[in-house]
Amino acid sequence: MIADADGALFRAFTNGWVPWSVLVGPDGKVIFSENEFDESGFAVAIQQMYERPSVAKASASRVVGSTGRTVVLGGGTGGLVAASELRRRLPADHRVVLVDRSEDHVYQPSLLWQMVGERRLSQFTRPLERLQRIGIEFRHTEIQTLDLDNRVVGTASGDIDYDSLVVSLGAQLAPETVPGFDEMALNLYTPEGCARIHAALQDFSEGVVAILIPSLPFKCPAAPYEAAFLAESFIRRKGIRRNVEIHLFTPEHTPMPVAPPALGDSIADMLAARGVHYHPLFTFKELRPETSEVVASDGRAHRVDLLMVVPPHQAPEVVRSSPLLGVSGFVHVDPRTLQTDYDDVYAIGDVATIKLPNGKALPKAGVLAHSEAKVVAQRIADEVLGKRSDASFDGKGSCWIELGDGRAAFARGDFYAEPDPQLKLIRPGRTLHWGKVAFEKWWLHHWF
Ligand SMILES: Cc1cc2nc3c(=O)[nH]c(=O)nc-3n(C[C@H](O)[C@H](O)[C@H](O)COP(=O)(O)OP(=O)(O)OC[C@H]3O[C@@H](n4cnc5c(N)ncnc54)[C@H](O)[C@@H]3O)c2cc1C
Repeated sequence: MIADADGALFRAFTNGWVPWSVLVGPDGKVIFSENEFDESGFAVAIQQMYERPSVAKASASRVVGSTGRTVVLGGGTGGLVAASELRRRLPADHRVVLVDRSEDHVYQPSLLWQMVGERRLSQFTRPLERLQRIGIEFRHTEIQTLDLDNRVVGTASGDIDYDSLVVSLGAQLAPETVPGFDEMALNLYTPEGCARIHAALQDFSEGVVAILIPSLPFKCPAAPYEAAFLAESFIRRKGIRRNVEIHLFTPEHTPMPVAPPALGDSIADMLAARGVHYHPLFTFKELRPETSEVVASDGRAHRVDLLMVVPPHQAPEVVRSSPLLGVSGFVHVDPRTLQTDYDDVYAIGDVATIKLPNGKALPKAGVLAHSEAKVVAQRIADEVLGKRSDASFDGKGSCWIELGDGRAAFARGDFYAEPDPQLKLIRPGRTLHWGKVAFEKWWLHHWF
């Protein structure tokens, strides 16, 4: 171990990005390798090295005599699209079952507008029950176990067997792993947290507002930056900008680091132009509620008055206790087919992880969950209908980046490009903001 308090060694031996992290097992084989600073993935890899010396690739056989039934786990972005597309493609006697613990689908990008008082929760949620109208069987229950050998999902209201399984359970937020969270942080990634942030911003008159990303990975690489832009705009319009400092702390070396450096530089420039203090390579250590400080492992400490936090992400409990869990802490899938190590079991969206040609991970984002869901639905439908499927995920994606003041930027490109993802930022403007709003309206209308 070498101390590197000011990051000089880090900068000398990297290109502003963490080098390949490699874990080699006792037999000399590489167990884990990733070009990303992802402590949780590393920790899981070490744990698995002890607990499961060789991760067996198992494949279950179809249940003889079962009726056709595809089960989709999770009614978020990926699950909603997968179930709807499956229903559209499959004959009526093939059952499509969707399971979620929540009664409602939540369109998560709208959380950022809720945070600044531009949306109420009821405006961006829809009852999953409505999907029954198009022939999707909705089960409102907690998923507890995955028995992949016997093709059975265990839930709080009984077992459900399947022929094909789509796992789209998202990423579980783990604020409890951040010491001091309850005492001093507001959760930027939940409706309850965003409602509290809005109330706090309304009451705010002077001091330090901060956004903290304590760890990687997190979903929607743009969201914390959008939160900074929206909060800045809100505070300026309120007429108190002169009394308020805004900070953003992140372990990333640049905004949206999976994209080409020019894109991150543009976002960093826009933060600077709005007077937002950006703290990249901030390796979070702890919150100190007694002094209202955010502390880095190199000892840097910043006092804050209003703190919004992107909680650490992990695979949902039911996935972590299943053999689907990969060494990265999420589910490893084939980058094109989204198939797991198990026959007829697919994982899509935030619960899955896909390593890109340059060693970084595909970002966790709704737009990608959406495209992956369509591919998986087509593959399953083709198989049920006895066709050879050529449906394949192409790694293309896009996202709007809200900038406040009714303006947005837009990034789009190809994450599977070699050797590095190719993404371009389109010049910000008002039309792009309305594009983001129009997509929200389309989403909530189209699927429901
Ligand atoms: C503030 C914010 C802004 C965002 N903005 C954008 C954006 O602009 N563009 C973009 O592309 N992405 C955005 N995202 C990310 C996007 O919302 C997610 O990447 C996407 O929803 C992932 O889809 P998913 O299906 O994998 O998981 P989710 O949509 O999270 O769905 C998972 C579902 O599984 C259910 N579930 C989990 N465990 C269980 C269990 N044990 N039993 C029963 N049910 C369970 C949950 O209730 C949930 O409904 C944003 C996210 C946030 C938080």
